[in-house]
Amino acid sequence: MPEINSPTHPAWRENAPAHGYEFTVGASYALPEYPFMAPPELTSHAVVRHAIVIVGGGITGLTLACSLARLGVQAVLLDEDNTVGVKGASSRGICYTQKSLEIFHRLGIYERIAKKGIQWSVGRTFAGRDEIYSFDLREQSNFNLSTQPPFINIQQFYIEGFLVERIHELGHVDIRWKSRVTALQQNNEFAALTVQTPAGSYHIEADHVIDATGCTTPFHAWCGATVHTKRGDDRWCIADVRFSKHPPVERHTWIEAPFNENRAVWQHLMADNVWRIDYQMAPNADPSYVSREDVVRERLTHQFGPDAQVDIVWVGPYAYRSQWVDQMRVGRVFFMGDTAKVVSPFG
Ligand SMILES: Cc1cc2nc3c(=O)[nH]c(=O)nc-3n(C[C@H](O)[C@H](O)[C@H](O)COP(=O)(O)OP(=O)(O)OC[C@H]3O[C@@H](n4cnc5c(N)ncnc54)[C@H](O)[C@@H]3O)c2cc1C
Repeated sequence: MPEINSPTHPAWRENAPAHGYEFTVGASYALPEYPFMAPPELTSHAVVRHAIVIVGGGITGLTLACSLARLGVQAVLLDEDNTVGVKGASSRGICYTQKSLEIFHRLGIYERIAKKGIQWSVGRTFAGRDEIYSFDLREQSNFNLSTQPPFINIQQFYIEGFLVERIHELGHVDIRWKSRVTALQQNNEFAALTVQTPAGSYHIEADHVIDATGCTTPFHAWCGATVHTKRGDDRWCIADVRFSKHPPVERHTWIEAPFNENRAVWQHLMADNVWRIDYQMAPNADPSYVSREDVVRERLTHQFGPDAQVDIVWVGPYAYRSQWVDQMRVGRVFFMGDTAKVVSPFG
């Protein structure tokens, strides 16, 4: 049984952290690691101007990079990390809608997602022990208009990994890992970025910069963007678990769960037989306490009974935040994904 380590710096993560990688709890996921390759600028010291530089290799930066690669458009993608997923926050996106699946189909990774992920269409909502609502998305009149199913559940990092491999297949986009952008300057014609790598820093110019660095982006400050933030008092704790005998493959939500002090619970199956269970916590709950192994196990026992054999894969507390920018573009910089808007917890 994997052990849960105490978090070093426990805190309520607000949506998707891009820094603060120290927060890792549980056996966690094995994420792929990509090599750092020293770019030519480090030795030539030449400042090269590119048409498009994407900063951030999360799901949105990689999706754009893959779309450009498919169209044969040259671009550079810089990511400060050397893996997909965000270390310590591996369980984030899980549900991918038909529209997203259609996009992934166009990009050539849908088959891999369908093979790895879990298709579901039945959802049930409970209040206490009563089922108060249910749906089957296959019964909707527009269900057959798409060749993709209503939803596939899969851990976000799998999609990101498939995108990386697809970009390598297609060419045209130069992905540079371990490349953190530390400064931006821009004028009417181009933007200049400073990039920090394990082998030193260099400068790069771009006609257009796409900021896909997530919700803790430094670009808002660099560009003087106006950002609106609303924090809620919703607190949650995720438990990603495997069961020896699992519940039905349906989405179950409780608006009042008797086994969670009458607070909400969401329950989904993802790839690899891992169940993602989000438990709503009290607004004043202590994140380090609610994510302690014995406390998580007690919560699982309340829900599934003392005999359920549960293997904990990952645990993480998070809080709600909504955030949006007034303008999607400032000069040469475009905001994309969580840098443009965050609607917890759905991105
Ligand atoms: C609990 C939870 C559940 C969610 N569930 C869903 C769901 O079911 N479906 C869904 O669609 N969405 C879901 N989301 C939202 C989804 O995870 C985010 O919207 C999505 O990750 C945003 O992608 P992004 O590419 O904008 O940013 P991120 O995924 O945060 O990627 C940012 C990237 O930028 C890199 N980076 C950061 N700073 C720099 C820098 N200075 N230089 C270079 N690189 C940098 C990071 O290494 C990272 O790779 C969920 C989120 C949470 C927290």
